[in-house]
Amino acid sequence: MAGSTGTFRSRNRVRQQFALLAFFLLIAGLAIIIPSNATSAAQNPIQSGKLTQKGRSLIVQVSTSHEINMNRLDRRPEFTGGNHRYLCLQMNPRGGTTIIRICLGGRTRTYRVLGVSRTSESGTVRSSKVIRAEVKKVNDLKLVATFDPRDAGLPPGRYAWRISHHSGQCPKSGPMAKPLADCLSYFPAKRRALYDLRPVIAVGCTGGNGQFVTHGPRGRKRVALTFDDGPSSYTPEILRILRWKKAKATFFMLGQQVASYPSYARRVLALGNEIANHSYDHDLLPSSSNIRHATRTIRRVTGFKPCLFRPPYGAVNSSLLRSVGEADMKTVNWDVDTNDWKLPGAASIVSTVIHRVSPGSIVLMHDGGGPRGGTVDALASEIRGLRRRGYKLVTVSELLGNRVIYRPALR
Ligand code: ZN
Repeated sequence: MAGSTGTFRSRNRVRQQFALLAFFLLIAGLAIIIPSNATSAAQNPIQSGKLTQKGRSLIVQVSTSHEINMNRLDRRPEFTGGNHRYLCLQMNPRGGTTIIRICLGGRTRTYRVLGVSRTSESGTVRSSKVIRAEVKKVNDLKLVATFDPRDAGLPPGRYAWRISHHSGQCPKSGPMAKPLADCLSYFPAKRRALYDLRPVIAVGCTGGNGQFVTHGPRGRKRVALTFDDGPSSYTPEILRILRWKKAKATFFMLGQQVASYPSYARRVLALGNEIANHSYDHDLLPSSSNIRHATRTIRRVTGFKPCLFRPPYGAVNSSLLRSVGEADMKTVNWDVDTNDWKLPGAASIVSTVIHRVSPGSIVLMHDGGGPRGGTVDALASEIRGLRRRGYKLVTVSELLGNRVIYRPALR
């Protein structure tokens, strides 16, 4: 009994060994087939791709195995059929089904535009447009495209991405017929890579050169509305109106108010307005350390280092102007005073603004330091009236020709 069981077991073992051998043969066979696939992968024209964020821009770098003629690429191709030649970055918002494809090339103005298509997963184009970009050919094998992801309809968030390239030589029928997959290559080849597109925040500005100004250049119909002494409980309503009217303003904040209302200060900035320094606690002719204390507070709370300073009561002397310059700011007063702090009523504030502005004006108002209902009530009509007279509303830095410096936020 024990012997027969032994024989049965050994027969079973032989079968197992045979199965094992067959399995190894299969693996060996696959190993012979795989190198031929690996060879075709080595011929992938897209050798590498990389995404980076700088300032407000998203930068795509693509390295290719051979030179790709940009003029022959289709920047608004069909993805489902046809022999379109393209080289695109495809971004797939995590959790969404739409794919946004950003495509290089085209015959005209090649180096300044990209085609953007929103497609379904099957490749059907739902909408397409052209956006401004900077496209550089670093050398024959390397392309770099820089664009603002907001223009491409890419909000901050997580994306699965790939670079896709179609050679455009893929006849569907006839003796040269090939499957689509043979003409389409990807980087990464197998699965999509993940990218965290971070929100962009303003961190500083140019132009903090110690100058003293009361208005901007008079040549263009632009006006800067400014609000002093906040942030306060009135600030959110002012922000709501600015947002509704798609207008921007500059907020000269007190350090102590920023410390009391940090979320309002952050919201001012997040909505594209400018934050400026109005001293820490509204001291007349504040000291250098008072001014720097306000800058430090604004920076700690919002991440933004202001470049503009407005003296409390508009009072200046040479030592104050020197302190402001040493703290890398400009001193900014105004040429239109609404006197809103005297509570003249909304109608009077509107009328003052509309009748006293001229191109380049800086308008003084207040979003803190007292009851500001009149200032709030005047704002929408003010904006309407200024626009009707052909004025564009800008921040003070914009009015003075300075730039805001942006950086992707850290997570
Ligand atoms: Zn003030």
